[in-house]
Amino acid sequence: MNKFHLLEFTLSELEEYFSHHHQPPYRARQVFGWVFHQTTFDFQLMSNLPQKIRHQLTQEMTVMAGSEVIRQKAHDGTLKLLLQFENPQSTSPHQVETVLIPEQKRHTACLSTQFGCPIKCTFCATGQGPFLGNLTTGQIIEQALRLQKILNGQGQRLSHIVFMGMGEPFLNYEATLKAIRILHAPWGLGISARRITLSTVGLPAAIRRLASEELPVNLAISLHSPWQEKREKIIPLAVKYPLKAILEAAHYYFQKTGREVTLEYLMLPEFNLSPA
Ligand code: SF4
Repeated sequence: MNKFHLLEFTLSELEEYFSHHHQPPYRARQVFGWVFHQTTFDFQLMSNLPQKIRHQLTQEMTVMAGSEVIRQKAHDGTLKLLLQFENPQSTSPHQVETVLIPEQKRHTACLSTQFGCPIKCTFCATGQGPFLGNLTTGQIIEQALRLQKILNGQGQRLSHIVFMGMGEPFLNYEATLKAIRILHAPWGLGISARRITLSTVGLPAAIRRLASEELPVNLAISLHSPWQEKREKIIPLAVKYPLKAILEAAHYYFQKTGREVTLEYLMLPEFNLSPA
């Protein structure tokens, strides 16, 4: 039997699950307390749950759906994990990277939202590889939780989240937004919306949609060139979305949320280092 991925559930969805199993709704908070605050992923260790419930959860659910394939640590302490998830639609598992950036006063998780990326920016290694599909909400949350588990061992908490890993978050809007809500929720990782940044190449309709979600996360737009023609040379999708429309949407986002929008500029030698 395929197990449910617990990290797909919101609090109300898990409360509903327990109601169906004739259990009080507060069981959901107990389980999430273990998972998000203690980073305990084995249901059998959740000592405030009745043994019968622990057994049932073990039979029906999993907390970690993927596995860690590679862990690399750079000299500055940046940690990169390569995670692997089985895919029911494919014979081979899909892999995705997630990164922990430790600094003196903050610990940032850089999360991926897609297996590969369909945008295919010419300067990006992810864009040159195959695009295999979207991550689920649970797979996005699992990245953060694996990094939090590592930090728990050092008595630290994740303080910031950036969606700047593999993929364009707005092309996986629903799963990404649900993940942001779980990361932000007090029963989840409890990370302030002001410490969550979503980075995009600029999809105007999605920027406007996000502005209406009442979840004022930071928005970062990968600009890389202020000239439409030049931008199209390195970001193929830019053909569909003129800079003017992107900047109008960014302005709208600022007006609606009060959050400043960051423009990201990758310096590419002999391409965008001069004014023209
Ligand atoms: S949108 Fe981001 S992940 Fe996708 S190809 Fe461009 S730079 Fe790479």
